[in-house]
Amino acid sequence: MNEESGRPIRNLCIVGGGTAGWIAAALLGHYAGHLFRIRLVESEEIGTIGVGESTIPPFLQLIARLGISESEFIRETQASFKLGIRFDDWLDRGSSYFHPFGAIGAPNPPVDPYQLWLRARTADPSLELQSLAPASVMADAGRFMLPFKAATTPVGGAAYALHVDAKRVAAFLRRFAEGKGVVRTEGLVDRVEAEGDQVAAIVLRSGERIAADLFVDCTGFRSLLLGQALEVPLDDWSDLLLCDRAVVVQTENIGPPPPFTLAEAQDAGWRWRIPLQHRTGNGHVFSSRHMGADEARSILLAKVEGRPVTEPMLLSFTTGARREMWRGNVVAAGLSAGFIEPLESTAIHLVYRAIDFLLRYLPGTSRAPELAAEFNRRMTGDYVEIRDFIIAHYSLTRRRDAPFWRDVASIELPAGLRHRVAMFADAGMLPEVLDGLFSAVSWQSVLDGMGVLPRRPHPSVANAEPAALARDLRGLEQAIGRTVQQLPTHQAFLDQHCRAE
Ligand code: FAD
Repeated sequence: MNEESGRPIRNLCIVGGGTAGWIAAALLGHYAGHLFRIRLVESEEIGTIGVGESTIPPFLQLIARLGISESEFIRETQASFKLGIRFDDWLDRGSSYFHPFGAIGAPNPPVDPYQLWLRARTADPSLELQSLAPASVMADAGRFMLPFKAATTPVGGAAYALHVDAKRVAAFLRRFAEGKGVVRTEGLVDRVEAEGDQVAAIVLRSGERIAADLFVDCTGFRSLLLGQALEVPLDDWSDLLLCDRAVVVQTENIGPPPPFTLAEAQDAGWRWRIPLQHRTGNGHVFSSRHMGADEARSILLAKVEGRPVTEPMLLSFTTGARREMWRGNVVAAGLSAGFIEPLESTAIHLVYRAIDFLLRYLPGTSRAPELAAEFNRRMTGDYVEIRDFIIAHYSLTRRRDAPFWRDVASIELPAGLRHRVAMFADAGMLPEVLDGLFSAVSWQSVLDGMGVLPRRPHPSVANAEPAALARDLRGLEQAIGRTVQQLPTHQAFLDQHCRAE
């Protein structure tokens, strides 16, 4: 091996076969399977985390980029459609707001509809922002249509993601990746042979030694290669996001699955409800500094609607991100790279991002510090953006009814978020982020839901007459409402769309 440039990449080894491992295997097998041999090592004895079931719209890009039929994927994984997230009790007890996917109003409008709404509400204060967002109205009515099939209607600006069964997704992607030539090895990694920033091989408990030129660490929270062998530290963000535990349980469905994720605030965290076709995933994310596990479990079991079909399981996590996610010849994806609580369902997306960036910056040899630096810059940017977005959900709360909420409200905001909220509070403007994950609609919806009303509209709408604007927007609201009432219910759409051909 040339010490400077490393060795050519002929063998790539993915360690770990959870959602991260199999997404990595599917993408790398599909796009780079002709360049090098790919192996995936996983241990059934250790198993996978088995949660991670709410996604965001780019997940559908991932499916499409692999050439997988969306309806087949939905059928095989018992997925359901997701139009966004409903947040109950976050601003105050009894409050509720929706974070929709897609546009407010029509897609790509000439003037920001948020600004039009801001101006219009001076004449019509009861006009609600979300009544102009097609995905919110569809979710509220429990109805669904693929937005591109309704492109010419007032709901064409909606977007969607999926609720998925994590185990079925891993199994589906495994079949896909093996079909692309990825070779799976069952085995428990006992030892990692590393020197400097290079991993030479992993050694299984069976004694088998697997050498490779590039490793993708998908070993979950263990972070066996990047964290343990190469000792890349985790930047700990627990002082900004206080939750560090989750108790999870699956339940029977008690009715048709609603097309949205529910995130309901609790005394020391929040609980999720993720409805699939065949069952519902539930979890209670909480801060162990404010609540014990037994109490968290009891609260979750008292709140779930259907009969539990699994034993409640407790998970611990540390919020944070590895200081580098690619060092030497190890690239981490998934929980081994970092974790931010699942309030905006971003973790699976970060796996896709990591592998997408790896494909963009694919190294020719086992040492590529410039490519690694760019990868790390992009990935760290994503983690920080998500972290700040999640903090915004908490820190603007008016709740003071429990120590947890008093504590989150007193946390000092990171500078970037402080700047963003201040800009928005002035005239509803947002800093422009190139290739950012969350759209203006996302920030507008969450900041509006958390009670941030800008002091003035942007000057570009200052000449518009508020009463006339309000009449126009009420017209749009009615048109969206009428169209939504004619759409199939989510269940009817699933039955029809996902029927086996
Ligand atoms: P894991 O599933 O833990 O997989 C690790 C793999 O490494 C396994 O195959 C294991 O066998 C293998 N392994 C580990 N050690 C060894 C060893 N020594 N030898 C051999 N193999 C080994 N994400 C979302 O996008 N949406 C959500 O709604 C969401 N909800 C979440 C809720 C909670 C409470 C948590 C904790 C996470 C959530 N996530 C969510 C994150 C999501 O679950 C993960 O990002 C995703 O499942 C990827 O996990 P992973 O593959 O990195 O890890």
